[in-house]
Amino acid sequence: MTLLAACGAAEDRAGSQTPAPATGAASAGPVAKSGPSTRATPDPSAPAVHPVATAKEPEHHVHAGDMAVALTFDDGPSPTYTPQVLSILHQYNVTATFFMIGTNIERHPEVLRQVLAAGHLVGNHTWSHPDLRALDPAKVREEIERTGDIITRVGRGAPPILFRAPYGNFTGTAMAVSASLGMHPVAWSVDPRDWSRPGAQAIVDGVLGAVRTEAIVLNHDGALLDPGQTEVGGPADRSETVAALRTYLPRLIDAGYEFTVPDPAR
Ligand SMILES: [Zn+2]
Repeated sequence: MTLLAACGAAEDRAGSQTPAPATGAASAGPVAKSGPSTRATPDPSAPAVHPVATAKEPEHHVHAGDMAVALTFDDGPSPTYTPQVLSILHQYNVTATFFMIGTNIERHPEVLRQVLAAGHLVGNHTWSHPDLRALDPAKVREEIERTGDIITRVGRGAPPILFRAPYGNFTGTAMAVSASLGMHPVAWSVDPRDWSRPGAQAIVDGVLGAVRTEAIVLNHDGALLDPGQTEVGGPADRSETVAALRTYLPRLIDAGYEFTVPDPAR
């Protein structure tokens, strides 16, 4: 069994049981870039939210004004691809959010520090990227707490506020745990499925075709590796994501978009 995983992969593994935030957002219809955006219609197939959870649902959008969008990068840090993403973001003076996996932070703590030093936000993406639906509450809490601890320790800063469940499976338990830790659950509205390596152009088209005011874009700068697996040339290869970013980012800027990070206060 491969351990390689990516946020959007659940659609393939679990079929219609799994919510697909990008699809749900798309079904809400296009929103004029110049006008106020509408919230995506809640996906009826979304997992039930535990009644004790304080957050109703994970955030799929940002609310930082007209033309504001957020770029998010999941499953890192990667010693190969995260620095390449950082270089492109620096070139255009864009701030992004990185939802990191605890095991990858343990292997590459210097990359987390590099991300923070560049002024980006780091969020909690669990310790081992499990499907949280399969875990008992104690294990869910351990996955989230352990990751928050290493981000705080390695980053020598405040605990992470943003939380993203692997595969977007924000279970009731996960919502309750993140709420109890003062965290803010963040999903996405644009998913070009870059983890499936569909080709850089397909990723570019996936982003540019779906982005609109308030969008949260999901990309992947890393992956959970099998033992002995290398990042380059296999399923964990994120070079297409990097190439796509290099193409779509200046186009988003030219189109007038501005870049923000998910705001836990909203
Ligand atoms: Zn992920």
